[in-house]
Amino acid sequence: MTNENIRLRFAPSPTGPLHIGGVRTALYNYLLAKKLGGKMILRIEDTDQTRFVAGAEAYIIDAFKWCGIEFDEGVHMGGEYGPYKQSERKAIYKQYADELIASGNAYYAFDSSEELTGLRNQYEADKKVFTYNAFVRDGLNNSEKLGIEKSEKLIAEGNPFVIRFKMPKDEELIMHDLVRGEMKIDTNTLDDKIIFKSDGMPTYHLANIVDDHLMKISHVIRGEEWLPSMPLHVMLYKALKWDDSMPQFAHLPLLLKPKGNGKLSKRDGDKMGFPVFPTEWTNPETGDQSMGYREEGYFADAFINMLALLGWNPGTEQEIFSMDELIQAFSIERVNKSGARFDPEKAKWFNHQYMLKSDDAVLADLFAKELTDKGISADKDMVSKVVSLVKERAEFVKDLWEQSYFFFEAPKEYDAKVVKKRWKEAMPTLMADLKVVLENIDDFSSSNVETIVKQWISDKELSMGQIMNAFRLCIVGAGKGPHLFDITELIGKTETLNRLQAGIENIKRA
Ligand code: GLU
Repeated sequence: MTNENIRLRFAPSPTGPLHIGGVRTALYNYLLAKKLGGKMILRIEDTDQTRFVAGAEAYIIDAFKWCGIEFDEGVHMGGEYGPYKQSERKAIYKQYADELIASGNAYYAFDSSEELTGLRNQYEADKKVFTYNAFVRDGLNNSEKLGIEKSEKLIAEGNPFVIRFKMPKDEELIMHDLVRGEMKIDTNTLDDKIIFKSDGMPTYHLANIVDDHLMKISHVIRGEEWLPSMPLHVMLYKALKWDDSMPQFAHLPLLLKPKGNGKLSKRDGDKMGFPVFPTEWTNPETGDQSMGYREEGYFADAFINMLALLGWNPGTEQEIFSMDELIQAFSIERVNKSGARFDPEKAKWFNHQYMLKSDDAVLADLFAKELTDKGISADKDMVSKVVSLVKERAEFVKDLWEQSYFFFEAPKEYDAKVVKKRWKEAMPTLMADLKVVLENIDDFSSSNVETIVKQWISDKELSMGQIMNAFRLCIVGAGKGPHLFDITELIGKTETLNRLQAGIENIKRA
């Protein structure tokens, strides 16, 4: 079911890598767009050239590709409403600023930054805060005071100017947010924001509103940090007489630090050793590298599942959702108002759940790459079986080796603590006896060997625990690992006998 009236966008500024909070914002836009049968658009908001960072746009596009958030239109793929990069739409914005001036909703301002800094300092000395607003604008250097003719002359003479929005006095603005409900604001508390800069570029506010209007955006879902901009945006829609088609707004709660107050930052990640970016990022100026979920070994699905539940809940106990299930289940009504605390352990838990539910053959392919890097060539079926035996102990594919190396190589040494505890004096002889028992077994399947060995132990009235622990020490080199007879089945009879012999010869009590 497609609905061409539903159009959502993610509109990042290319100022660096994308914080996972940004990925979550994009995700919620994507989920709602798809749920309602609409389109998802990627627009680059690069009006602030001073904050431009090389490589950031390519980074963002690549990160979304990894995550599985797909766009229908955008900077990287074009579309009916392009261009999708604000620096390429420069020519579009000025007419709307002019229109706002003509309708008395905006004015030219010539105040230099020195003048404004002087005013700020003066106010500060009086313990007040300077705000460029309805109460002071008539006394400042702008077309409200100078009149339009004089102002146009100044502009024609080449004097630098900005355009400010004329925030009305004494109005109560009523706004509606899909997450927060109705909000009222007194316009006297708002300032006259710059909407057009002296460099000929619109500010974020104007460009954002114009683009959302021209691109027919139906819903604006964005981070809570944009809530203070909402009154101006609503006022701009009204002033441009676009209020009939104004998008619905939803401001998402912050992602909070694992402990304490405040927004999750890169510093928290660095301190506690978890990534705050979807993929690795290298700062083009300093060469500094930041960790990424992809490179840390997270599955894209697990990463998305984890993010989806940071700030939204399905209203049930279900925690594991595929992207399609998220699309089905998502609704803005179930987005929380309060901040969502990020929990790095929960992130790992999600990855573990995806390990458990992944196909062994798929995990085996990923693991086989690591084995090849270590110079180990193993049969695919065997790797698949190993994975099925140890994946419950692994959070990441990279943990599989530590849980399973003994399937691929004989012990090079023996865990000293286990030797001390388990390798009693009689063990070399008992293991030699066990070796004879094993030599006589043809069917080396786990259950058959288990039955015969256990029978032998009980016939000889030996201690089950002592024999099994010593046997494990010979095979694994340590006291860990899955069911021992599953290991011997997979490494096979010859290797089992070799390891037993090596243990008998090499394990020495200190
Ligand atoms: N360019 C803004 C940002 O970087 C977009 C905010 C919005 O979605 O309106 O987050």
